[in-house]
Parts: sequence; C-alpha cells; structure tokens
Amino acid sequence: MIPILDSKRQYATIGEKAEKEVLEVMRSGQYILGKNNKAFEEEISKYIGVKHAVCLNSGTDALHLALRALNIGKGDEVITVAFTFVATTESVEIVGATPVFVDIDENTFNMDASKIEEKITPKTKAILPVHLYGQPCEMDKIMEIAKKHNLYVIEDCCQAIGAEYKGQKVGTFGDIGCYSFYPTKNLGTMGDGGLAITNSEEIKNRIVALRNHGGAIRYYHDEIGVNSRLDEIQAAILRVKLPYIDGWNKQRREHAAFYNKLFEGAEGIETPKELDGTYCVYHQYTIKVENRDEVHKMLQENGIGAMIYYPVPLHLQKVHAHLGLKEGYLPKTEKNTKLVLSLPMFAEITEEEQKTVAKTVIECVKKCSKAGVC
Ligand SMILES: *Cc1c(COP(=O)(O)O)cnc(C)c1O
Repeated sequence: MIPILDSKRQYATIGEKAEKEVLEVMRSGQYILGKNNKAFEEEISKYIGVKHAVCLNSGTDALHLALRALNIGKGDEVITVAFTFVATTESVEIVGATPVFVDIDENTFNMDASKIEEKITPKTKAILPVHLYGQPCEMDKIMEIAKKHNLYVIEDCCQAIGAEYKGQKVGTFGDIGCYSFYPTKNLGTMGDGGLAITNSEEIKNRIVALRNHGGAIRYYHDEIGVNSRLDEIQAAILRVKLPYIDGWNKQRREHAAFYNKLFEGAEGIETPKELDGTYCVYHQYTIKVENRDEVHKMLQENGIGAMIYYPVPLHLQKVHAHLGLKEGYLPKTEKNTKLVLSLPMFAEITEEEQKTVAKTVIECVKKCSKAGVC
C-alpha cells in the first residue's frame, strides 16, 4: 500500500527534537499563550515576510476571525470559489455573510480572475481566493480588481504555506492570510492549529482580542469573541518543524516533476500545470482522468492511496442549499470535480513508490478507457 500521505515517515526527521520540546512544555507548567506561541509568531512572520502573525486553533478559525476582524457579516457578500474545502465558505456563513461563487480556471483549479468583476454587487465586501493544492492564484489580477472596487482580500493559504507568486509568498498580498497546521498540511502539527497573518497592526490587535474572548485586557471584554488559542505543545512542535518547510516543499516539487516525467506521453492523463512566475508547493499532486471514479476504485484495489479533493462542489452541498444554486451554475468547477484525482505526495515518498504509482495509474486509466471494462 502506498498511502496518499505517510506522516510517520516525517517523524523520523523531527520526532526526537519534538519529543524533547514537548516534554519541556509539559514540565514548564505554561500551557496556553506562553513563550512558544510568541516565538513561533515571530519566527513564522519572518519566514513569510509579514509584520504580524497570530496563532489560532485552526485554519477555519483563521478564516472566520479574519472576516470578523474586517467587520464582514450579515448582508455582506464575499466572492470565493466552490472548488475548495468546505471551511472556506463555512467561515463566510459563520459570520452571517453570503458566499458568492466564481468559476475556476481549468488549468490551475483556482479562481478565474477574469470572472470576478461580473459578481461584484454593492454588497460585496471581500474577495477570498484559495491557493488550492499549493498552487498560487493570480494575485496581480485579484489585487487590481480589489483595489479598483475597494474590496478586502483574505487569502486562504491553508494548502499553500511557502508558495510564491512572482517571488512573494502567498498570504502577503491581501489584507489577511489564513493558514492551517492540520496534520496533513505541508506544515502540520500533531493536533489542530492555525494562523492569521497581516501587515496591519489594527487587524492584528483585533484578531488577538477575538481569539481570546473579545478583549485585549484579561477579564475585560469588548465584544463577543471565541476561544481559539494555539496550545503551547502544538506551538513547540511547529517551531521544531518550521526550519524544514522549505526543504520539504522543495522535495514535493521534485516529486511532482518526477511524476510529470513518468506520465509523459501517457494517454488520458492530464498532469498539473504551473502558472508562469509561481512557486507551487504541491500540497496535492492532482491529475485529471476520464472515468475518474472507476480509476480511483481500481487504484485503491491495487494499493494506491489516491484521493478525490473534493467530490462535491460547495455550491451543490446541502449546507449551501439555501443559496438556491443548481447544477450548471459553475460549469468548469462541476466538470473538474468529476475529473480530479490526487496521487500520493509527501516529502519522503521514494522514487520506487512513485514509479509504482505512475505505472499503476497508467494501467488503470488504460483499462478504464476501453468500453465495457469499467
Ligand atoms: C484545511 C483547510 C482549511 C481548514 O483548516 P483547519 O485547520 O482544518 O480548520 C481551510 N481551507 C482549506 C483550503 C483547507 O485545505
């Protein structure tokens, strides 16, 4: 079995150091908002190239509190995509705002910037692009539209830590960048974790207050907040892992290039594309194939842990049924939802494993393309 991700292998690299640091936290008696939180916020700000970072309990909270910090709520519209994980739009609904969906660019799976303006109404407050699979969105175009229409930009970077657009890290283009440290992400902790980044001190202060019951001073509460602190144990683990992220991302890119080579000339398999001037960090290596569900099933039977991210576009999910959007509303999103297949991808995957994956995929695609077999 070749899994889509094998977190245990990473443990060989960081386990010993992480165990030592976690033990130190356990013995310190300081478990919440302590020195590891503070140090990690400084270290990751420096890494990303941004003035402020605020540790949170999840990527979902980062998105939700980002919207709160910009006073986006009931009656407001947020332009985003349906080709993403539900947390993106769930956050919009949590604050009472309405997600407005833009179709994707089929080459990148990301928001098609040329279709944003037609969705702008007097109620639009923000654009929420998602750097899906670690692939940066076209931030030049998105920022230009945002400036022209005076809209906020919140970047969902949960799958894209370290990714760059024209030499600048994602998350630093808009007003707020949101990250997740869920264990399967490129930089994952050993529980839940998240982060919001911003160059605005005002926004930073607001998120700091919101994460801790809506008050800057202990036991003085100015507004309804939440409990979304990152615990010290997770912060300590993230501090051990952060120095490795560039190396791990580089390895992912090398593995992606190797997959591309292995699939060269293979019929019926479309490999991922990169936009010019972007540094994609391959949170997923996602191909497109016809008869995807059959290929997927056959791969699983053959020990290849391929996955579908995501099987149902968000505008057709029950949670957003109240928006009244029907099939046909986002043709490219809907079409690609039926084609995408993510293959095993992690820093430690071996060449042998990649060869096995590619060989099996090519065989399964061939079998499924013959009429009657699938
Ligand atoms: C993982 C993810 C989130 C949510 O992060 P959590 O830490 O799991 O809350 C949001 N958006 C995208 C695109 C994600 O992949």
